[in-house]
Amino acid sequence: MNEELSQLISLQEIDVEIRRLKEEISSLPSRQRELEIQFSQTAKEYLDLKEQLDVAQNEKRRYESELEIEQQKHQKFKDDLMKATNEREYTTAVREIDVARKAVSSLETEILKLMEKIEKLEANITERTPEMESQRIEVDRQITEWSAAVTANQQRLDELIAQRAPALGALSPNARATYERLSKTRSGLALAEARDWSCLACRMTIRPQVFSDIRRGETIITCESCGRILYFKSETVIT
Ligand SMILES: [Zn+2]
Repeated sequence: MNEELSQLISLQEIDVEIRRLKEEISSLPSRQRELEIQFSQTAKEYLDLKEQLDVAQNEKRRYESELEIEQQKHQKFKDDLMKATNEREYTTAVREIDVARKAVSSLETEILKLMEKIEKLEANITERTPEMESQRIEVDRQITEWSAAVTANQQRLDELIAQRAPALGALSPNARATYERLSKTRSGLALAEARDWSCLACRMTIRPQVFSDIRRGETIITCESCGRILYFKSETVIT
């Protein structure tokens, strides 16, 4: 095969791989974001339960401090009753004891209800925790795997970028200019494979005579339709 043609093929292989690696590397943040969104949707129900538990626990604490105040009042009114010296003080203390007792009792009922609610929420959360944890581990594992792949891809990319300069430098100025022009205007593909009598990039049929010239690979032949440099990939012969 014409040396320049094979140099062009190698250069395009390098460029195609460079592009693929860059795309893969730059897609990491969005892949990661998508995975986190998926996870947070799965986790939403679980986090809602935790939120409900938090609210119930806060409510219970608030009722408990109210209860303490009401119990103190209750005690104070009982003391007032003991110290009552006339009918009016006595009646007032009795009435206040009653009010405080009702408040204590209703707070105790609320606290009991909340304790039941908290118990149920805690059981529900405990039951779901292992599944959530394993899903989180899976997400983290996936992200670690992707990051490692990006590191490897970055290394490979650096190697290819280092290879690209000499590959480009080996070309004649003419071939280099043609390659760069076509690469820019033909979505990064300056060369196209010719197979089954057509150009694989634009599907244009290639005349038999031209096709056999391409097959020989002695000269640089471009596609009449898309202008790309055509090459023939010989099949691997199994002997
Ligand atoms: Zn073509």
